[in-house]
Amino acid sequence: MTSTVPFPRATVLGYPRIGPRRELKRALESFWAGRSTADELDTVAADLCRRTRTRLAELGLGTDDASIPSAFSFYDHVLDAAVVTGAVPERFADLVDADGGLDLAGYSTVARGRGDDLPLEMTKWFDSNYHYLVPEIGPGTTFRLASDRPVREFAEALADGVLTRPVLVGPVTFLALSKPAAGSPEGFVPLDRLEDLLPVYAELLRRLAAAGATWVQLDEPTLVSDSVDADHDALLAATARAYAVLADELARPERPALLVAAPYGDLQDALPVLAATSVEALAIDLVKGSAPAAAVPGLESTTLVAGVVDGHNVWRADLDAKLTQLEQLERLGAGAVTVASSTSLFHLPHDVADEPQLDATLRSWLAFADQKVGEVVTLAEGLVEGREAVHAQLLEAGDALRTRAQTPGVVRPEVRERTGALTDADAERTPYAQREPAQTARFSLPPLPTTTIGSFPQTQEIRKARAAFGKGELTAEQYEDEMKAEIRRVVELQENVGIDVLVHGEPERNDMVQYFAENLDGFAVTANGWVQSYGSRCTRPSLLWGDVSRPAPITVGWSTYTQSLTPKPVKGMLTGPVTILAWSFVRDDQPLGDTADQVALALRDEIADLEAAGIGIIQVDEPALRELLPLRRADHAAYLAWSVRSFRLATAGVRDETQIHTHLCYSEFGEVIDAIDGLDADVTSIEAARSKMEILADVAASGFERQIGPGVYDIHSPRVPSTEEVTELLTEAVRSIDPQRVWVNPDCGLKTRRYEEVVPSLEHLVAATRAVRERR
Ligand code: GLN
Ligand code: ZN
Repeated sequence: MTSTVPFPRATVLGYPRIGPRRELKRALESFWAGRSTADELDTVAADLCRRTRTRLAELGLGTDDASIPSAFSFYDHVLDAAVVTGAVPERFADLVDADGGLDLAGYSTVARGRGDDLPLEMTKWFDSNYHYLVPEIGPGTTFRLASDRPVREFAEALADGVLTRPVLVGPVTFLALSKPAAGSPEGFVPLDRLEDLLPVYAELLRRLAAAGATWVQLDEPTLVSDSVDADHDALLAATARAYAVLADELARPERPALLVAAPYGDLQDALPVLAATSVEALAIDLVKGSAPAAAVPGLESTTLVAGVVDGHNVWRADLDAKLTQLEQLERLGAGAVTVASSTSLFHLPHDVADEPQLDATLRSWLAFADQKVGEVVTLAEGLVEGREAVHAQLLEAGDALRTRAQTPGVVRPEVRERTGALTDADAERTPYAQREPAQTARFSLPPLPTTTIGSFPQTQEIRKARAAFGKGELTAEQYEDEMKAEIRRVVELQENVGIDVLVHGEPERNDMVQYFAENLDGFAVTANGWVQSYGSRCTRPSLLWGDVSRPAPITVGWSTYTQSLTPKPVKGMLTGPVTILAWSFVRDDQPLGDTADQVALALRDEIADLEAAGIGIIQVDEPALRELLPLRRADHAAYLAWSVRSFRLATAGVRDETQIHTHLCYSEFGEVIDAIDGLDADVTSIEAARSKMEILADVAASGFERQIGPGVYDIHSPRVPSTEEVTELLTEAVRSIDPQRVWVNPDCGLKTRRYEEVVPSLEHLVAATRAVRERR
C-alpha cells in the first residue's frame, strides 16, 4: 500500500478519439479504400494521440502523474479488448498471426466483415448512441495476450515525456458484454470463462508495470446496470473474483495501481464488493449516480475519483455546487477525493471554440470536451487550495448559469401554459377497435399492404444540392425544385414497382433529427460538433437549449406535393419526441419528460396540419425508444411512462380514420414490449429479417393486437434478397400473426443504400407479397 503513488488530483476518464477535424475517420476510410497504407494510418493515429496529450497538458492535466488517459482506439474499445486478449472468432482465424495478433487490415475485417463472414455484431453502449462490437466467446475461445498495443502506446507517450494512464475495458464488463460464440452449449455464458481470462489481464498489467505505468484504468460500466442479460449475483461474484486476482493476488509493484471506473450510473451493491478488494481507486459517476450515503467498509483506503463533471452532455457545470459536493464527499470518510469527468469525454465534440457561428450567449453556456477538462482542473484546484483560489472561475460559471436561466427562449410562457394544461385525455385516442374499421374503409388497401420506412437513397446529387444551398449557391426555389424532382422520381419508382402506401423519400433531410431541430424553436445546430457513433461513423447531435415550439409547418408542403402526384395514399413522415431527445444534447435544467412533452406538442401541431391537408397516414419514428431505457430496472417504469406518453401526446389528436404508424429499428424488445403496445399506433414496423421473424412469436404472445410490419429484408447490407427468401420470411410472419394485421416493408429506411440494390430488392418484396396473397 505504501508503495502506491497517489492518484492525480484531476483527470478525465477518456477523450474524443476521432480528432477535432475527424482526422481518424478520413484516415480509416482512405485505408479501407486502398488509398493509403497501414503505416500511414498508424502515423495519423500516433499523431492524433500526441496532439491529444499535448492538448490535455495545455488544459492543465499533469504530464508526469498518470492524469492523461491513454484511451485511443482505431475502431472500438470493446473490439480492442477482444483483440488484445486473443478472442477473435473462428471465422477470422486465418487473419491472426503466429502470436495471435491482428494487423490493421485484419482488425478492420473483424470490425467490418468480408463476404459471407459477418462482422462482430454491433450494439448500443449503455444508454448512449455509441455502438460497440459484441465479442463472441465460447468454451473453446483461447485467451492469450495477443497484442502489445496498450504497452506500445504507453511507451510511445512516455518517450514523448508523458506518463499516461492506460485505459482498458475491465474483464467483467468485457465478458458481460460478449455473446456466446456460435455452437456454445445451452446455458453457457461468456462470464463462465472469467478464470481463463484473468491471467491475460494479469500478464498485461505486469507488462504495463514493467514499462513504467503507475496507474491503469479498468472500465467496468456493467456494474452500474442490472438490465443486462447477465445474472446480477453472478456479476457481483465475478467482480469480487476478478479484483481478488488482479488487485489482491497480483501485488504491487508487480502491477500498476488500479483505478476501476464505473461510469453511467450508480454502483449500488457493487460498491462494497469493490471496496473490499485492494483496488486503489474507484471512479464513480456523480452525475447519473450518487455518492454513497455512509462510509463503506474498505473505502477508507480507496481513493474516490469523483465524476462530478458531466462527460455525456454539453452544458457548463455549476462549479460552486460541484465544489460543495466534493467537500461533502471528503467528509464521508473514504480515502482521498480527486476530481474527474463522470464518463469518458468521447461522447462530446472537441471544442466550443470550433463553433464561431453559434450565438455567443448560447456558446457561453456550453462545455465540450476541452472545456470539461478545464472544469475538472478548476474543481481540483478549488478542492485542494480552497475556494478563493478559483473564485473568479466560480463566479464566471455562476454568471453563465444565471444568464442561461434568464435568457428569452429558455422559458417561454406560452409553451409552459400549453404543457401545464395537458390532461390524460390529450394522450388518448378512441379505442383501436373503433378506429380500425374507419381506416379500412378509407384506404381500401389489399391484404398484406406494402410500404417502405421513409427514406430513399441519398444520392450524390441530393447531397450536392443541399451543400450548394447551404453555401448560397442555390436559391431556396432552385433547391426546392431539385428536391421535388427527386420526389417525382421516387414516386414513379414506387408506382412502377407496385408499392401500396408511398413515401416521399426524405431527400430534404440531412438527418432525421437535425432536420427537425433546424425547423423548431429551442434548438441550435453545430458546425463541427461531431461525435463518434461507431467506427468511422460520426453524428452531429443538435443542441436542445430552450422551450420547444413549432414556428411553422415543416413537412406539410413536401407531403402534399407528393400526394398531388399519385392516387395512392402517401405516408407523412416525422421523428418522434424520444428519438429527437436521444440524438440531441438536451438541456439539463428540467426533467427529460417535460422536454419530451414540448417536442410532442410541436409534433402534434405538425400532425394536425398534415391531417388537415389530406394526408391520411402519418408515421412517427421512435427508433431510440429503447436506447434511453434506464440501466436499472427500478427506473424503467418511470421512463416508459413519460416516453410512451410523449408519443401518445404527439399522435392522439387525430381523427379515427387517420392512421398512425411508428417504426422501431430493432427486434430485441425485452422490457419494452409492453411499451410498444402502449404507444397505441395503428401500425408498427420493426426490424425482423436478421432474426428470421423470431420476434413475432413474442409479439403475438404479448397480446399486441394492432397491425405490424415486420421487416422482410435487412437493409443494413448491400445484399439483394431473392423473391424466394422474402416469400419464406413472409410466410413465416403470417404463421405467427393474423395475416389481416401484417404489413410488408423493409427493416429500415433506404437512405444508406444505392438504387442498384433498392430497386430489385423492392421488386422482390412486391413479388413475394403477391405470391403469398395468391396462396391464400
Ligand atoms: N424514416 C426514417 C428513414 O426511413 C427512419 C430511420 C430510422 O429508423 N433510423 O430513414
Ligand atoms: Zn429503422
